[in-house]
Amino acid sequence: MSSKKDNFKSEFPRSCEHSILYCFDFDGTLVHGHLHNYLVKAKVKPGFATSVFVQEFYRTNEGIRCPAEWKELFQTLRDCGQSVAITTFSSYPEVVPIVLKDMGLDEEHIKSIHVVSGMPARHNRMCKNEHIAKARTHFNLAQDISCMLIDDDLNNILVAEAVGHLAVWADPDQYTFIDIIRTKSWWSHRLASMKTSTLNRHV
Ligand SMILES: [Mg+2]
Repeated sequence: MSSKKDNFKSEFPRSCEHSILYCFDFDGTLVHGHLHNYLVKAKVKPGFATSVFVQEFYRTNEGIRCPAEWKELFQTLRDCGQSVAITTFSSYPEVVPIVLKDMGLDEEHIKSIHVVSGMPARHNRMCKNEHIAKARTHFNLAQDISCMLIDDDLNNILVAEAVGHLAVWADPDQYTFIDIIRTKSWWSHRLASMKTSTLNRHV
C-alpha cells in the first residue's frame, strides 16, 4: 500500500519535459502578516535584516503559515525536479533563506530556490508578471514551460491568469490552496503529456 507521502508526490509532474516553474509570494503567503512592513516600521535598512528580526516578527505575528505543509511541498517539488522561485515585492530578500531554513529546508535546497524581489519596473502595473519572467530567465526555461503563481493577493493572481499563467490564490483564511496547487500541477502535467503524445502521432 502506498503511503500518504507517495500519493502526494504522484500528483506532481516528474519529468523535466513537463516542468512547471513554481513562483511563491512571500508576505502573507509563506508567512502570516507582512515581514516587509514590519522591517520598514522597525527602521531596518534593506539588506540588513537578520534572523533576530525574523524571530521578533514571529513573536509579534503568527510566524510561518502551515510550515509542515510548505516543507513537504517544497521537498516534493525538489524531488520532482521542478524550478522554484520566491517572487516578492519585498525590499528584504535576505529574510527569505532565513524563513526557508526555519521551515526545515536544508542549505543546498535553499540555494536552489531563486528569489526575485522588489517592485516591478512598471510601477503603474502592480503585479508579479515581471518577477515571473525574471525567474523564467534565471532558470533558462523555454516560453512554453508553464508558470504557476501562488499568492495571497487576488490582483496578482488575476493578472497572472490573464497572461496565461497558472495561478493559485493563497486564501488568507484557509489552507485548501495546498490541494489546489497539487490538482493544478497534475492537470498541467496531464495536458502537456497529451499534447506531446498527439504531436508524436503526427510525426
Ligand atoms: Mg503577499
